Amino acid sequence: MCDNRRRTYCCVFVCLNNSSIPELSLFRLPIEQDRRLQWLHLIDREYLKNKSQPYHVVCEAHFHPEDIMKNSVRKLLKKIVCRV
Ligand SMILES: [Zn+2]
Repeated sequence: MCDNRRRTYCCVFVCLNNSSIPELSLFRLPIEQDRRLQWLHLIDREYLKNKSQPYHVVCEAHFHPEDIMKNSVRKLLKKIVCRV
């Protein structure tokens, strides 16, 4: 079946997780430059550092479970550090 909805994919290499998985949280790259560079270095995507598209995301699979807070609506990061 063809699915034409636009999906947001995790930008970590080889990770195919995307926004079609309802229980999966996707976290946007930090706006703050230092943290953004830290994430991009960890995921080996430093070429994204000057791109400001908001849809570059990293899925929750790349974070320690203890770094993710859950409330009734969505999951939130306690620490803005990904581990990859
Ligand atoms: Zn991922």
